[in-house]
Amino acid sequence: MHLTKIPLTLWQHEAFQKAQIEVYLARLDLIHADFGGNKYFKLKHNIAEMRRQGKDTLVTFGGAYSNHIWATAALGRQEGFKTIGYIRGEETYPLNPVLGQARAWGMALRYVDRTAYRDLKTGNLPCLPSEYVVPEGGSNAWAVQGCAEILSLIDLPAYQYVFTACGTGATLAGLLQSGLEKNYLGISVLKGGDFLKEDVKALSPTLPALAGTWDILTDYHFGGYAKSTPILKAFCADFTQKYFMLDEVYVGKMLYAIVDLAGKGFFKPQSTVLALITQRQL
Ligand SMILES: *Cc1c(COP(=O)(O)O)cnc(C)c1O
Repeated sequence: MHLTKIPLTLWQHEAFQKAQIEVYLARLDLIHADFGGNKYFKLKHNIAEMRRQGKDTLVTFGGAYSNHIWATAALGRQEGFKTIGYIRGEETYPLNPVLGQARAWGMALRYVDRTAYRDLKTGNLPCLPSEYVVPEGGSNAWAVQGCAEILSLIDLPAYQYVFTACGTGATLAGLLQSGLEKNYLGISVLKGGDFLKEDVKALSPTLPALAGTWDILTDYHFGGYAKSTPILKAFCADFTQKYFMLDEVYVGKMLYAIVDLAGKGFFKPQSTVLALITQRQL
């Protein structure tokens, strides 16, 4: 797939007016109907590497609602390779929308319990020579290389801040490889996301030469991964009404953080903020 530019949406909010900032949303969700979002960037070089190795089956892992599983199945269908998804937990019918769609796109689903899942994740996966393994969330060095390309597809003359939601931190690590002098902020969607900083460092080969600053903010997890609160729900409902359907697990928390930070005087007046809409098209 050849990508030109990532569409931008200007997000208007009274908190931004007061703070004298402009906030643009980078619509990664709009790059493709089936595999929009950051997962495309995390997978593209993995797919190329799989082909270089002469393999035809991409094997990966995820929870039952994993966007990574969704994107892997969509790309397998589109680009003609086989996909196998190890799913944490028991098979339940009817399949939820993610697993139902993944199977409709041809992914072979294999259910494993938590212990077995952890075992597989740490590399104890029996593999055929035709199988290429991508870790959970797609997060490896190829993923970082793909995410390093995201900002080159943004057509915004000047912006000082870049925000993304962090699960594994690979997307943020990629952004840090862009070579652009920005303030990079990751919002942890996990409780106790302090370890994420170390993970990002480990994934970022050129971090010592970073042209800019970066941080991971850990106060916007709303109880932990896939947890929510009435405040977050109300925020997302309001946003959805004015703009587009919002993913509450990742993007909603990151956008909430931007509004909150604007109210706290976090941003330098007259600056421009770019927020990555990393979700798939909903
Ligand atoms: C997977 C995902 C992320 C997190 O990406 P990481 O590279 O794991 O930090 C952010 N937003 C959405 C919508 C995702 O699906």
